[in-house]
Amino acid sequence: MSRYFSDPRAALRHPDMLYIDGRWVDPESGGGLSLISPSDEAVHSCVAEASVAEVDAAVRAARRAFDEGPWPLMSPAERASRLRAFAAALRQRADSFAALWSLQTGIPHGMARHALQNPGMIYDYYADLICETVLFESRQRDNGGYAIIAREPVGVVAAVTPWNHPSHLMALKAAPALAMGCTVIAKPPPEAPMDVFLLAEAAEEAGLPPGVFNIAPADRAGSDHLVRHPGVDKVSFTGSAATGAHISSVCGARMARSSMELGGKSAAIVLDDIDLARIAPLLVETGGKRMAGQGCAFLTRVLVSRKRHDALAAALAAAMATVKVGHAFHPETEMGPIAMKRQLDKVLSYIERGKAEGATLATGGGRPETLLGVEGGKGFYVAPTLFANVTNDMAIAREEIFGPVLSLIAYDDEEQAIRIANDNPYGLNGAVFTDDREKAFAIARRIRAGNFTQNGLEHDSKFPFGGYKMSGTGREGGSYGLDLYSEIKTIYMAQPPAGLA
Ligand code: NAD
Repeated sequence: MSRYFSDPRAALRHPDMLYIDGRWVDPESGGGLSLISPSDEAVHSCVAEASVAEVDAAVRAARRAFDEGPWPLMSPAERASRLRAFAAALRQRADSFAALWSLQTGIPHGMARHALQNPGMIYDYYADLICETVLFESRQRDNGGYAIIAREPVGVVAAVTPWNHPSHLMALKAAPALAMGCTVIAKPPPEAPMDVFLLAEAAEEAGLPPGVFNIAPADRAGSDHLVRHPGVDKVSFTGSAATGAHISSVCGARMARSSMELGGKSAAIVLDDIDLARIAPLLVETGGKRMAGQGCAFLTRVLVSRKRHDALAAALAAAMATVKVGHAFHPETEMGPIAMKRQLDKVLSYIERGKAEGATLATGGGRPETLLGVEGGKGFYVAPTLFANVTNDMAIAREEIFGPVLSLIAYDDEEQAIRIANDNPYGLNGAVFTDDREKAFAIARRIRAGNFTQNGLEHDSKFPFGGYKMSGTGREGGSYGLDLYSEIKTIYMAQPPAGLA
């Protein structure tokens, strides 16, 4: 660690404080969240942790800011101008966001820098969008009177995110929520909480009114308290299906709004027209190389016709063997470590299950022999791993591993490929590899998943993203993102007010 940072906490102005109600406050508990670098297992930072009492304080502040204003009643243009200031403050911190992402989760730093060139982008986008969105619509009724359909903010939002892409996943929630006029409590994962401290600095600099944006870096008990809190109107959650199902039921019991972005086990269907040598490196990429498989939408099941199974297994194994694995901050690293020990153990246990179930371990399966920039056997590393001869009933084909492990499954014809792709509890993403666009579209229509790409894995925050089945409810991104933070009200009047006539 010391090789890259003398003091990562120096990226934060107030690592030991919480931002609640527009002020930096000392946490009441003396402890904090101790953070371990997955690249070398060094404890790199300790930051403030929110206790249950501070979660209560954050909810009180957000509640007051929503109920008493001025944020929800400001014009969209006024909110947009604060959001643009917020985005500008984030842009000034682009280097810190990229460094903290790599430090906390192990994503290669070059990749993090590229992806986070503009950490304010999603906030700017929603600032523009809210100014174009119709918030009040006046319609004449059959009886001559009027109905005004108002789109209103849903209220106090708890934004709960996982560790794999902290600032981006929080932006997909906080930006549309703030644009709509909601107030936000940002609840980051305890393993990667540092980004929200930067967001709080930006909120302060941008002059967001007190209570509009608050942070609650809490452990499981504090997080559970937050989502159960009667002062929270809406929980916007990204994370595992198990936690999502739990939070959905907690919210359902008190009729709080919730939306869920959960896991995936997405299939890439490789058709016979496509050249295997051309797509093998791409399949390693879309299978998770970028983030050591720790992404919800990666295409971790590869479906290929039986006659080409062995050839694709060989091409994938060869492509995986070229991946340079190492320390997140080594300049040549293409794939970093798994983000934490418990996740490493989970990935390794799935590899053991794959072997026990009779799949063929074609390459990988453990710690790589060569690691860039790593000393002394430290770090949570797994080599890119390929299982061939997988059948769709095996655990490695059904369950989300969240590691760099691909399962290669043979199909007899395209109908069977579609059935296999759909035969999974998840439905987040999918892809077909073919140059026949008619066939690609026809197959896309038949896959039960919220996202689909021809010949790759695309994602664009200006368009809806979300899952079918166990992959979640609701869609983030684009105007659909605003829907998640809106309530619809119908106001009946004999005549509409002047502005809406
Ligand atoms: P997780 O479910 O363990 O945790 C996610 C968040 O929920 C964390 O902030 C955690 O502290 C919090 N949490 C845990 N228990 C809670 C409780 N009882 N009440 C309230 N909050 C609680 O997930 P993870 O392991 O951090 O992340 C990996 C998962 O996230 C994978 O399943 C992945 O597919 C999913 N994910 C989904 C998307 C998407 O957009 N669909 C994006 C990224 C990650």
